Amino acid sequence: MLKYSIYTLISFFAFISWGQTIKYNLKMEKPQNHYFQVEMELNDFPSEEIDVKMPIWAPGSYLAREFAKNVNLVLAYDENGKELAVKKTNKNTWKITKGNAKKVKVNYEVYAFELTVRTSFLDLTHGFVSGSGVFMYVDGFKEKGGTLEVFPYKTFGVITTALKEKGEGVTADVSTVFEFDNYDHLVDCPLEIGNQSVFSFTASGIKHTVAMYSYGNFDVEQLKIDMAKVVEGSTKVFGENPNQDYTFIIHNVVDGQGGLEHSNSTVLSVNRWTYSGPKYSDFLKLVAHEYFHLWNVKRIRPVELGPFNYDEENYTSLLWVMEGFTSYYEKLILMREGIYTPEKFLASMFSSLNYIEGSVGARVQPVSHASFDAWIKAYRPNENSSNTTMSYYSGGSIKAMMLDIMIIEKYNGEKCLDDFMRVLYQKYYKEKNRGFSETEFKDELANFLGQNMDEFYHKYIDGTEIPDYKALFAKIGLDVKYAGQPLPSIGIGMKDSGGKTIVTSVRSGSAAEEAGISVNDEIIGCNGIRADKASLESYFSNLRTGEIIDLLFAREDQLFSTEVKVTTYEQPRFDYEISKATTKNKLYNYWLRIN
Ligand SMILES: [Zn+2]
Repeated sequence: MLKYSIYTLISFFAFISWGQTIKYNLKMEKPQNHYFQVEMELNDFPSEEIDVKMPIWAPGSYLAREFAKNVNLVLAYDENGKELAVKKTNKNTWKITKGNAKKVKVNYEVYAFELTVRTSFLDLTHGFVSGSGVFMYVDGFKEKGGTLEVFPYKTFGVITTALKEKGEGVTADVSTVFEFDNYDHLVDCPLEIGNQSVFSFTASGIKHTVAMYSYGNFDVEQLKIDMAKVVEGSTKVFGENPNQDYTFIIHNVVDGQGGLEHSNSTVLSVNRWTYSGPKYSDFLKLVAHEYFHLWNVKRIRPVELGPFNYDEENYTSLLWVMEGFTSYYEKLILMREGIYTPEKFLASMFSSLNYIEGSVGARVQPVSHASFDAWIKAYRPNENSSNTTMSYYSGGSIKAMMLDIMIIEKYNGEKCLDDFMRVLYQKYYKEKNRGFSETEFKDELANFLGQNMDEFYHKYIDGTEIPDYKALFAKIGLDVKYAGQPLPSIGIGMKDSGGKTIVTSVRSGSAAEEAGISVNDEIIGCNGIRADKASLESYFSNLRTGEIIDLLFAREDQLFSTEVKVTTYEQPRFDYEISKATTKNKLYNYWLRIN
């Protein structure tokens, strides 16, 4: 009886966990209508009903995008071609009643006409597949591996993806078969399908493939040299590169959208003329940012960010580490590789520092809250965002710099933030192969620095205090001074809209707010004189505190006038000075890698 039960149990587990196979077919029969045709072949799924789901978001981009909105009629068939009942049960779930069918084919079309790094696109020039918006998964079976067969449109000759092709003999003239380990892996490997130009280079012993969609003023040989520097600079931080290969998909377009990180690939969207002049180092900074993510967020990660829940928002208060530390390293790596001078690196960091400390939102929203609320605030900004939010990118990069300096001082120039990143990589990725909790991250920092981090967190991570930058930078011999000055101000932002001057922002607590000016008001005149944006700006730049100005404005075509009593506003800012003593400071030179 016992024996019988064990065998039953074993065969039961074999049945539910190992028997099923999943195969996707991806077609693009008529690219001019912007629809991908997807077929899922599901074999040997045990239950009589299965739920197929479309993710609501794309990992790395923290917004509910509701990809199910792009899905047309979902149909399902059994192995005999008999249609099966499909019922939509919530916004992103379709329930298929399959009965005893051994094989189920699920067919649907996805509208793809949003060319960003996190969404999908198809036209007669190319197709771009961001998997989480194109491929559904079977609820409860995301861990299953399978195959993806891609049938490119007849004029598309190249497929670029980090997915591996399945063994020889499987790929036919009209299609290519790829393998994936599980659903996370499938959607972590976007596909570019078209006639992109492709080149490759080897760096840190790894082959890197670069696919260029559309025209740009790039020089392939120069890119190979500079992108290799970024790869090597990033790899040096951790001492090893976990990938066997890496793929860059680059969209050269009019409006660059930035990048999206994946475990062994990335998608970059840049202006096609970005490859010369001062913009070129911005491009390399983007490359460094996304490449650094292959460690920081794809492998070193909060427990909430992988394996992913595609059904809802995945909240974490650690985006200031994932995005902020990455924003710090993007610049640090460029400096260490000689693409930025130390002066440019410093100027860039102080620009971020002053941007953050000078922002009203940074006094209201701690960096941990900015992280957690990315889904509902950073990714869904409104006219009041400058008063209520701060950037966890810039804010997190300043925290990274603070911690780096604290570590450099503690270890007297023998260790830096790199060494802490290696601890996280070793312990959580290589040994435990899991994400860390917020508490674990804080404890690791405390251990590494040999100090209690409660006060640091209370003031700067969960609080909004301005750090004592003078004392901080004194640790490495850099003179920093507070440079904020009280200035007369009414506290509005404006834009010119077809000759009309429109208010775009009103600072909390400002004179303009007090006088009843709102966003979207059209300012028509000042002190009885008609004024355009340029003359208003000129006038507002010479205000005196206590002065009363009379503003004529329109709201919904109704005219109003109001008296604004000019007040004083002090925007915090910090300046630095590199003295002779600074350049002789061992810790300063270690930080900036100056020999
Ligand atoms: Zn990022």
